Amino acid sequence: MDFKGRQTQKCPRCGGKALINQTKCPDCGLVFSKLEYATNKAAAERYKNGERNAVVFVRKTPIDLKKWKLILYGTLFGLFGAQYFYTRRWWWGILYLLGFILLSVCVIFNGYLVGVAGGALIDVMAFFVGIYGICWIFDIVRICFGRFKIPVSLPKQEAEVVNIKEKK
Ligand SMILES: [Zn+2]
Repeated sequence: MDFKGRQTQKCPRCGGKALINQTKCPDCGLVFSKLEYATNKAAAERYKNGERNAVVFVRKTPIDLKKWKLILYGTLFGLFGAQYFYTRRWWWGILYLLGFILLSVCVIFNGYLVGVAGGALIDVMAFFVGIYGICWIFDIVRICFGRFKIPVSLPKQEAEVVNIKEKK
C-alpha cells in the first residue's frame, strides 16, 4: 500500500502502518475499535494463563485505569516502581524496587563502600543507580506525553465486554 502523503496510524500489536481511517490493521488483522474495550486487568489474566499473544501494548490509558493516578503514582512513588505495579507490569516494578534497595545501600553504607576495591565497587553501584534514576525520569515524561506503554487485552467472555460497554 502506498502511504505517501497520507495520514497513518501505527498498529499497537504488530507496529505495521495503517491509514488513519482504516478500521483494521492490514498486516495482522487487529480491529482497532476493539481496543476500546480492552482492559489492563484482562491482560494480567492472559499473562497468568500464558496467553502472551493476546496481550497488546497501548499508549492510551485503558478504561479500567486512570491517567491521573498513573501520573500521581509515577511522580510520588515512581522510585518504588508504582507506575509499573499500577499497570500490572510486575517484573519492571520488582526491578525498580531492587533499584531502590541499591540506592539505599549506596547511601547508608557509603562510608564503608568507598574503601572497597579502591572505590571501584561504589562506582559500579552508582552507575546502576544512575541508570535507574534516568529510567524513572523518562517514565514520568512518557506518562505525561501519553507514551507510556500499558498492556491490555480483551476480556475472555463476550459478556464482560458488553458489561464494559454498558458502564461507559
Ligand atoms: Zn497489526
